[in-house]
Amino acid sequence: MTRLRSGSATDIGLVRRVNQDQVLEADTLFAVADGMGGHAGGEVASKTAVEALRSAFEQAPDPPSAGDLVGAVEAANEAVWDRAAADPDLRGMGTTLTALALVTEEGKEELALAHVGDSRAYRFRQGRLDQLTADHSLVGEMVRRGQLSAAEAAGHPQRHVVTRAVGIDPMVEVDAWLVRPTAGDRILVCSDGLVDEVEDAEIATVLGDVADPGRAARELVSLAREHGGKDNITVLVVDVVDAPAASAPGQGALDAGAPGEGAPGAGAVVTGAAPGEAADPRAAAGAAPGSGTEPRSRGAQSPSS
Ligand code: MG
Repeated sequence: MTRLRSGSATDIGLVRRVNQDQVLEADTLFAVADGMGGHAGGEVASKTAVEALRSAFEQAPDPPSAGDLVGAVEAANEAVWDRAAADPDLRGMGTTLTALALVTEEGKEELALAHVGDSRAYRFRQGRLDQLTADHSLVGEMVRRGQLSAAEAAGHPQRHVVTRAVGIDPMVEVDAWLVRPTAGDRILVCSDGLVDEVEDAEIATVLGDVADPGRAARELVSLAREHGGKDNITVLVVDVVDAPAASAPGQGALDAGAPGEGAPGAGAVVTGAAPGEAADPRAAAGAAPGSGTEPRSRGAQSPSS
């Protein structure tokens, strides 16, 4: 049996007037969402997404599969999209959504990770911090194409422009991975308010030093505030306390659209994405005719919003 222990913290930061981030810690389902949109939009988007994710995942068959988690992210997309369509004040709102769940694939317990936007998930193992997700942002795509170094990306003025988000289109492309539960591993899920302020090395130091996941999350939030706290900050730490003995460390890509993290030989698993969705060039281009599909910038959120 896989046993998980989690803790989280969310904070408005020092500049923003509203916390548009949301964090979810349920039994075996965890998520971070970072909303965007004027007026109440961002706050409503992240809250709507997390509630819809939870309710859809609760309705999944027992035990749930990785495809069920992807389906729950798609349900979250639909919920935000519908809500925005019904209320002119909320039009154009969207949110990042990075979700982690304990699922069963081929009779084995696995952690499924589903991701849209520029929040991040990392794995911390024996002092080493590895980013599991790829940022769906203009600069993230430039880094992957070799047009920008990671260091240049960190200070880039357009680093907040996201190219994929939940709720801005009727359909969403979801990246998904399986992460084998390995005792001792810590999975960190966070909004950009953490990684914009705190270097990976500092994050790794805290995760190495502070055993309690809730305390580690609070300490990371405090560091981000000390370093400026220019954005809302959300940190979720999920520790794998126990894992099935047979499981070996490894990670497989679930989705052809996912970055090249897949371990050799890892089989592709069905995702909830409709056929052809993963190849939709609009997601990569980040811009399409019509409203609601242009890249969204959370950098443009005014402090008074
Ligand atoms: Mg943010």
